[in-house]
Amino acid sequence: MSQTPLIAPRSTREWQSADAQHYLHPFTDFKALAAHGSRIITRAEGVYLHDSNGERILDAMSGLWCVNVGYGRKELAEAAYRQMLELPYYNSFFKATHPPAIELAGLLAEITPPQFNRVFYAGSGSEANDTIVRMVRRYWDVNGEPNRTIIISRDNAYHGSTMAAASLGGMKPMHEQGGLPIPGIVHIEQPYWYENGGELSPAEYGIKAAQQLQRKIEELGPRNVGAFIGEPIQGAGGVIIPPDTYWPEIQRICAHYGILLAADEVICGFGRLGHWFGQQHFGFQPDLMTLAKGITSGYQPLGGVMVSDRVADVLIDKGGEFHHGFTYSGHPVACAVAVRNIRILKDEGIVERVRAETGPYLQKRWRELAEHPLVGEARGVGFIGALELVADKAARRFFPNRGDVGLICRDHCFANGLVMRAVRDTMVMAPPLVMERAQIDELIEKAWRCLDLTARDLKN
Ligand SMILES: *Cc1c(COP(=O)(O)O)cnc(C)c1O
Repeated sequence: MSQTPLIAPRSTREWQSADAQHYLHPFTDFKALAAHGSRIITRAEGVYLHDSNGERILDAMSGLWCVNVGYGRKELAEAAYRQMLELPYYNSFFKATHPPAIELAGLLAEITPPQFNRVFYAGSGSEANDTIVRMVRRYWDVNGEPNRTIIISRDNAYHGSTMAAASLGGMKPMHEQGGLPIPGIVHIEQPYWYENGGELSPAEYGIKAAQQLQRKIEELGPRNVGAFIGEPIQGAGGVIIPPDTYWPEIQRICAHYGILLAADEVICGFGRLGHWFGQQHFGFQPDLMTLAKGITSGYQPLGGVMVSDRVADVLIDKGGEFHHGFTYSGHPVACAVAVRNIRILKDEGIVERVRAETGPYLQKRWRELAEHPLVGEARGVGFIGALELVADKAARRFFPNRGDVGLICRDHCFANGLVMRAVRDTMVMAPPLVMERAQIDELIEKAWRCLDLTARDLKN
């Protein structure tokens, strides 16, 4: 079967020039990129990307933490194609619904922890977190405590880029542009033992970091606080893995004050930590959880909030109309792809494999990188990990201009056929969950070589 290409091919130079003329990229210095030229990714297969120069790149970031089942899954393409022919779009605003949204809702209730039986759909993780802000405030209002409007989050959290989601997030550069955070959102320290733990053991530090929540609640007045939100492991903030003592203490504090606990599972969900959801790795039970990214393995944009019975019962029984929703809430094509994606994760035992087999192997090999002179710590769980690039390993001392060395290393990776991301001087990875042993070996080998190249640059 010969096919005309969907988009007419061009040379790399031509793509770059058209890109610079018409396309403003997200989270990008437009002028600097136009001067440098962007890399044109043309196709992908399994765990590899291909660019317009014919180079093959090992994608240790799953795109943006999302392509959990890997690239090129025909089942997902077919689900989208067939759903588009059957019913490409319909809304669920006015007493209507459709089979893919219903099917996915039931499947999500089945794979999430038992307190979750209902989903509110959104088009992205950001929209889902905006929904959480609206829903928390609505819940307390209906419950007769309208003053409980404040939501507590953490420094360097990433919850998305819309106004409310960026406010929940703790990214200073985002807050500086556009007058954020919006009122009623405050932040406490992130549980970052490597930077903030000092002489404390990780276990001691985990309790100390969690108790900042208690202090903040007391400072704000317990009756003014509606919820706490956190990613089980902070992703974009640098793969910050809290000590095991942290989440149980957070749970205890939320329960003590009756505050809702929201888990942003956008990265940790759908198998990344070797469980369906990150909360199951850490052993806590939230009232709300944010889903996106891995829910479709990135093949379609889709987000959602899982709503526990505690919250749903109040909103359903006493809430009346909830004045909130999106044109693409429960988009049929996205839902059909999500259903197929979740079936792939289940049927192929991908989550179990990450927990029992490939995850432990990746983590064992990843920790070997801590022997490199540049690496102060190599940490990770399942299929997520980070390397701290430091000036002094023994003293846990960072480089003076934090971020410079990370960028050097990231550029070496990209030039040497490997995608890792740099968060300041922390290199992070989150490969597709289908990565196999030989590819893990390739990842470690390439990472070591790029660390060497980075170290060599620092000597010159
Ligand atoms: C990516 C991300 C979001 C935002 O999702 P979008 O689909 O980009 O809006 C929210 N929370 C976490 C933890 C994320 O990693």
